[in-house]
Amino acid sequence: APHATKYKRVMLKISGEALMGPQGFGLHPPTVQRIAQEVKTVHDMGVEICMVIGGGNIFRGLQGSAQGMERTTADYMGMLATVMNALGMQAALEALGIHTRVISAIPMDQVCEPYIRRRAVRHLEKKRVCIFAAGTGNPYFTTDTAATLRANEMSCEAIFKGTKVDGVYDKDPAKHDDAVRYDEISYDDCLAQHLGVMDASAIALARDNKLPIIVFSLDEPGGFRGILAGEGTYTLVN
Ligand code: UDP
Repeated sequence: APHATKYKRVMLKISGEALMGPQGFGLHPPTVQRIAQEVKTVHDMGVEICMVIGGGNIFRGLQGSAQGMERTTADYMGMLATVMNALGMQAALEALGIHTRVISAIPMDQVCEPYIRRRAVRHLEKKRVCIFAAGTGNPYFTTDTAATLRANEMSCEAIFKGTKVDGVYDKDPAKHDDAVRYDEISYDDCLAQHLGVMDASAIALARDNKLPIIVFSLDEPGGFRGILAGEGTYTLVN
């Protein structure tokens, strides 16, 4: 039986690096499968799930432009990287028996669906996991912004930002033993203190549309499901 949750529809944003596991590059199948399993446990609760996966495990626009490539070209390469990650996640979810759609901001009909808002909403209503790929389709943006944009368009109740740590800290907990985690923090404090939850344009877009951001650890088994069931540690940005 589905467990009680106050969420009907959520956006899960993960970085591309979350897929690379111990390899340091690309997609690590056991890691992709583990994340797919986490998504399945939430899907099993009856929650409608949107996903955006970054591309940093394959290519980042800034890194390309730092090496002399035109920024826009490099950003398109980054967007294409997110399509590869989306297809990898789709395969892992479908192997678990979950129906999915990869929906690209840049049409590539042989590979996945183009983004049509009303069609994506219909997929969600039919409990298909929608993986939004190719970011916003525009250079100079990030997948954090894409996740916030699609979360707004799909009327998600919150955006779940899966990271390596269980929330937002006042300083980097990997470097400082005395770093303190916030239970709750405002969008404006995140921006003013440069806390690196998401990039500034994504946080501002969430703030202006009153979309809560929940920062949690993707490494914690059952963590995603736990938060939806009202347990666990995380930071609420609102
Ligand atoms: N990107 C872009 N427009 C978007 C989303 C992404 O140009 O709307 C490009 C950008 O070059 C970025 C890359 O795709 O560096 C990969 O996305 P991101 O850096 O957000 O991935 P993550 O850090 O989450 O893995």
